[in-house]
Amino acid sequence: MAPLAPAADPVTVPRWGTLDNPSMKTIRLRHGKERSLQRRHPWVFEGSIASGRADPGETVKVESHEGEFLAWGAYSPTSAIRVRAWSFEAAERIDAAFFRRRIDRAVAMRSRLAIPSDALRLIHGEADGLPGLVVDRYGDTLSAQFLAAGVERWKAAIAEALIAATGCSRLYERSDASVRALEGLEPATGWLRHPQGEGASDPATAVTIREHGWQLQVDVALGHKTGYYLDQRDNRQLFMEWVRQFGCRRVLNCYSYTGGFSVAALAGGAEQVTSVDSSAPALAQACAHVTLNGFDPGRHQALDADVNATLRRLIAEGAVFDAIVLDPPKFAPTAAHAERAARAYKDINRLAFKLLAPGGLLLTFSCSGGVDASLFHKIVAGAGLDAGVDGYLLHRLEAAPDHPTTVTFPEGEYLKGLAILRQ
Ligand code: SAH
Repeated sequence: MAPLAPAADPVTVPRWGTLDNPSMKTIRLRHGKERSLQRRHPWVFEGSIASGRADPGETVKVESHEGEFLAWGAYSPTSAIRVRAWSFEAAERIDAAFFRRRIDRAVAMRSRLAIPSDALRLIHGEADGLPGLVVDRYGDTLSAQFLAAGVERWKAAIAEALIAATGCSRLYERSDASVRALEGLEPATGWLRHPQGEGASDPATAVTIREHGWQLQVDVALGHKTGYYLDQRDNRQLFMEWVRQFGCRRVLNCYSYTGGFSVAALAGGAEQVTSVDSSAPALAQACAHVTLNGFDPGRHQALDADVNATLRRLIAEGAVFDAIVLDPPKFAPTAAHAERAARAYKDINRLAFKLLAPGGLLLTFSCSGGVDASLFHKIVAGAGLDAGVDGYLLHRLEAAPDHPTTVTFPEGEYLKGLAILRQ
């Protein structure tokens, strides 16, 4: 068993160690805490660590209590997830070439998927062996979130590899998600790569993408997350087909954002579509999408309002819809919030059931990692019971395949939905 290196003065330590670099820091786990890394689960929690520390994002070697190699990982001094594994191969070297290999593999996987859009998720964090990194491609523009200390430290190498793998000329950074604070990182936004040079101040951050047959505008600087919710792409297509198949005339799109499901409904032949969201800029974009795609703006109504209050008001007014979409933001970021989130999900689903015409279609989603598919089904069941409404499960829905889940990291599964036909 190698003796544990004393904690070194951070000033004299090289930025990152290598296999043959004796200054590579070692994180020793507590007895019995090696199981999850042995199962190739990439997280090491603070409480599992017996000894060792490193600088933010520094590459560390993780060993079992007995001194057996388990993984190379990135150290996050302030996060409860103290190490995120880069690799479980002792012979692997974590360097710029490592990031090129991982990014090339992720991009190659997407190119096999035949995605019906020029906008897609290229890097999906842990599922692509790059914990903390999210990269979406919108046409010729990449939009990236660096959400953990490890990817933050390797940002330059990652940016280089992304441009090389895709041939895109523009890479915008959207590292402004609140989770960065848990990593001790400040928000960071702006162009990382641009034909006018790094740090360019080009205000032209809007990109027009083609999803299915539709044109949609995405602003990588001003939109939510990286700009758009690409994970719902396949579900928007299914919705269009069902609206057509079931002849849904009156459609209510709750938490519409920029109206992706509203455009789908209009494309499916809906006569009247109402988009509800609490973001005025998102709704303005939803209205613009209606006209951009050649639909009569008279067929679309935008409500800048809280969904829950709107559903209650519509019930009071005796409104009825042939199809309703409920795609709320994450109510439960972790399992600890599941109970309160369950009540919120149940409430909006109960209200939606009450507004649904017999034979009507409900698409209901949860993107909370803390609420799994089986719990979500139970919540929706409770909502149906309270509303006095039953329905047939038409389809179980999930994120589009460019947002993959891996075999060894089931926690990566976050978006789940049900398509229900009211009896
Ligand atoms: N269905 C969308 C994505 C929805 S994201 C798509 O296909 O693109 C969730 C949306 O819910 C965001 O646009 C956010 O502005 C909105 N939102 C959050 N809380 C809300 C509330 N209480 N009432 C209305 N909208 C809300």
